[in-house]
Amino acid sequence: MATLSQSQQLLAKTMDDFVTNEITPRLEAIETTRCIPVDLIAKLGKQGLLGSLVAMEYGGQAVDYLSYGLIHKAIGGVSHSVRSLLTVHDMVALAIETYGSTTQKKIWLPSLATGQQLAAFALSERQAGNNYQEITTTLEPHSHGFYLNGCKTWISCADLADLWLVFAKWNNQPVALLVPKTLPGIQIKSIDGITATPAARLNHLTFQKVELTEDHILGPIGMGLHLVANTALTLGRYSIAWSNVGLLRSCYLASLAFSQQHCVNQQPLFNYQLTQQKLTNLLVQFKAARSLALEAGDALQQRKNSAIGAVMLAKYFSSQQATQAVLDTIQIHGAVGFQQNQRFHQWLLDAKLTEVIEGSTEIQQLQIAQLYQSITLIDE
Ligand SMILES: Cc1cc2nc3c(=O)[nH]c(=O)nc-3n(C[C@H](O)[C@H](O)[C@H](O)COP(=O)(O)OP(=O)(O)OC[C@H]3O[C@@H](n4cnc5c(N)ncnc54)[C@H](O)[C@@H]3O)c2cc1C
Repeated sequence: MATLSQSQQLLAKTMDDFVTNEITPRLEAIETTRCIPVDLIAKLGKQGLLGSLVAMEYGGQAVDYLSYGLIHKAIGGVSHSVRSLLTVHDMVALAIETYGSTTQKKIWLPSLATGQQLAAFALSERQAGNNYQEITTTLEPHSHGFYLNGCKTWISCADLADLWLVFAKWNNQPVALLVPKTLPGIQIKSIDGITATPAARLNHLTFQKVELTEDHILGPIGMGLHLVANTALTLGRYSIAWSNVGLLRSCYLASLAFSQQHCVNQQPLFNYQLTQQKLTNLLVQFKAARSLALEAGDALQQRKNSAIGAVMLAKYFSSQQATQAVLDTIQIHGAVGFQQNQRFHQWLLDAKLTEVIEGSTEIQQLQIAQLYQSITLIDE
């Protein structure tokens, strides 16, 4: 079992302080304006939290995967909106670092590693969500390059980002493309009224004869989904797993504090055995999700064969537990649980969202069962 080093413990403390000082006081504003303030994004960049996995030679922090998890636990524990900005950005940076040419890395990584430029991940289409193999966006050759045609939807932070990682098909072969937002032929339309991660600014993107060259293609042709998208999605799932660990911790702490302060029949609610049962379950949910996230981080760091499965297990477990934990937290708080200022309604929507995105609960059930048919993975 992975344990935290001294520097990782220090990072966890630094992150808790950062969240307390920079994010918590602005949560209400972030969610009511549905916007992450520009100066907060600048602070995330200055703190090295955008593109934090990127190698030092490109100006990144080269944090290890456990440290990465701690960052996402601290931020996701209070705001899945802010966390999702980091996640989609980091998914693109990781894809470039893993599959990019030397030129692509030199062009994009230094500005992504410092947050001077932002990136978004554009895979989903209206009829291609979990079944993203069915994407219909196409790359068609012409005399001096390619045209990109098609639509993407539900793309987080696309309007904030300078660069999009777009997935398309060329001759029915999946390709990953680095598409700067400013190219002619692109239209961006914001999707309003999204209730989960309200400040993640979802967008619908349309590409009409957007001119690209081979320099825009990331990674091997034909491997755009199997390698590039899946590498990025594994990081996305890992980020979600740790965010939910943060959320589960928040649920436990809120429920414990309330049950100790609130009296029923002149007794603290805590004194009732059924409350203690709920608190015990919340604690176990948090600890178990944390153990799976630690195991996933260790597997990623050591590049184990089991890493993809370990990340799926951590995301699958944490997202369902987080949803249930928020419901129990509301139950413990009674009527107070429905007050807007408690933010439990937002936690509930955000937790449930994590059962839908980056591979829904149902899809993870299928994939985990299929992956773990190879029993050598179980004990790794
Ligand atoms: C807030 C938010 C942010 C997002 N950000 C991004 C982003 O940045 N980039 C991006 O590319 N996309 C993004 N998405 C899109 C997201 O990835 C998709 O919504 C997700 O993949 C699910 O796809 P879908 O909504 O089409 O659902 P579907 O895939 O149609 O699934 C609908 C339901 O059917 C179930 N289902 C599907 N297949 C099966 C099966 N074989 N067996 C049983 N049940 C099944 C699913 O589990 C789900 O419950 C975002 C979505 C939201 C809501």
